[in-house]
Amino acid sequence: MARYVDLTQPISPSTRVFPGYPQPIVHKWTTIREEGYFSNLLVFVEHTATHMDSPAHFVEGAPTIDKLPLEKFFARAVVLGFKKKPGEPVSRREVEEALSDTGVKVGKGWYVFFAFGWDRVERFEDWLKYPYLEDDVGDLIVELGVEGIGVDTPSPDLSPFNVHKKLLPKSIVIIENLSGLVELAGRSFNVVILPLKVEGGSGAPVRVVGVLE
Ligand SMILES: [Zn+2]
Repeated sequence: MARYVDLTQPISPSTRVFPGYPQPIVHKWTTIREEGYFSNLLVFVEHTATHMDSPAHFVEGAPTIDKLPLEKFFARAVVLGFKKKPGEPVSRREVEEALSDTGVKVGKGWYVFFAFGWDRVERFEDWLKYPYLEDDVGDLIVELGVEGIGVDTPSPDLSPFNVHKKLLPKSIVIIENLSGLVELAGRSFNVVILPLKVEGGSGAPVRVVGVLE
């Protein structure tokens, strides 16, 4: 029997956001007591909690989140685990070795997920000093020809975001702020990744579910 694992962070007023973005607002709009039905008004940037960056996030005229092919949302994922201190880089060599340790051959139809355990970092200052992928890891990902990458950090790279700039022009999407990856390190499984259909959106929150056999 398959086991379904939610790899998604919740959206709430206390969700940690990238510097410069507002805290999400979850505002009670109607209540059962007053109007007879309960609903919330939501206000947040597209890049909040677990979300997907569409190519348009960094490339003018590139596909927006609503224009991505549905095949991108049903894929295989392999999880590479790295033990890193705050602010430490991951080299291309480390990624190549971790990939070969898994024994799977990734390519079209695959995502590579990077597990650092950063969804569990408690202090905001530490969360901001996330480990990052060196620029040439971006080149490796392009060479592999996968659908996308995912990280449990706020971003795969630091400013000026060179990994974003290598992947997004190739329509290789980026999922940020995944959760619960660490215990899946070394494993590969089917994954469902469904972003909200924001018309013309630069990205959108996604529900990411691993389907483990
Ligand atoms: Zn983003």
